[in-house]
Amino acid sequence: MIVEKVLILGSGCAGLTAALYAARANLSPLILEGSMPGGQLTTTSEVENYPGFPEGVDGFELTQRMRKQAERFGTRFENDDITHCDLTGPAKQLFSKTKTYSAQTVIIATGASPRLLGIPGEKEMYGGKGVTTCATCDGAFYRGMDVVVLGGGDSACEEALFLTHFASKVYLVHRRDSLRASKIMAERVLKHPKIVPVWNHTPIAILPDAAGLVCGIKLADVSTQALTEIACKGVFIAIGHIPNSAAFKGTLALDPNGYFLTEAGSQVKTSIPGVYVAGDCADHIYRQAITAAGMGCQAAIEAERYLGELG
Ligand code: NAP
Repeated sequence: MIVEKVLILGSGCAGLTAALYAARANLSPLILEGSMPGGQLTTTSEVENYPGFPEGVDGFELTQRMRKQAERFGTRFENDDITHCDLTGPAKQLFSKTKTYSAQTVIIATGASPRLLGIPGEKEMYGGKGVTTCATCDGAFYRGMDVVVLGGGDSACEEALFLTHFASKVYLVHRRDSLRASKIMAERVLKHPKIVPVWNHTPIAILPDAAGLVCGIKLADVSTQALTEIACKGVFIAIGHIPNSAAFKGTLALDPNGYFLTEAGSQVKTSIPGVYVAGDCADHIYRQAITAAGMGCQAAIEAERYLGELG
């Protein structure tokens, strides 16, 4: 079996930056792209806070550029998802449904997936029937319609603002009386004529029409529990993310929310030498494209040093 020098799981900002550094160190890294090539940034419309792009850059374009840059120095890509692993030996074994990978070093940059609510109607109408977690992907289907965005963070604000290009009205439903999002985003949202904030309400159920498509959402007032309904054709869920770490449960240390834990004094070193983490699967504090890229860089440098010490 081929033993890779550097195996990178995930092709978002963290994975692609790790690949760039590992490739430039002549380590010929292999990236396993996973189910969402390019990561979360590919579902973002305009990225305004990635240094070097004073006019902003489309999220998909930014990841494509990172990918090209990593490829230029010899990164290889495969499409596969790791389901379990054995990281004990000098050659770490990682298993997908169909294949076993072996590697001297592993960089886990598996990112995070959108959190769902678990309320009636959500699962039944998810994907194509009116419930979604991606305005960039699905927003254009809601031209001239009323939609609801759930959440109060930067993601919810971003989704709401993007949807104003298509929807006639965007209800932003939040369980508090103020937004958690950054000031600039919150201000944009609150002064937008198409966005209607609905404070102190939590979603109870997503309502289907006779054809099984979304026709509304039922909300409860958080203090009085009084129920209300908003008629809408689309529900965009933007209530945060869950780290993609399930394949490593029991092998690597995770915090109670599933984020990878690292060794004291390092953002990227796990308790197993040669195994590193980077990006949103390990960072519940900053969760930015630029910080994910920075962690990817650190992880690749650590992998290079580890391989150097092995000789
Ligand atoms: P977030 O900041 O964790 O916000 C999640 C929001 O969803 C919160 O307002 C939370 O309410 C609400 N929520 C969570 N569970 C809920 C539930 N069961 N029912 C109803 N509401 C629920 O997540 P995010 O917006 O995805 O942002 C994640 C990180 O990425 C942040 O650090 C953010 O700054 C960053 N980000 C940055 C940008 C940008 O800079 N352009 C864009 C997107 C994301 P509470 O407030 O009550 O907890």
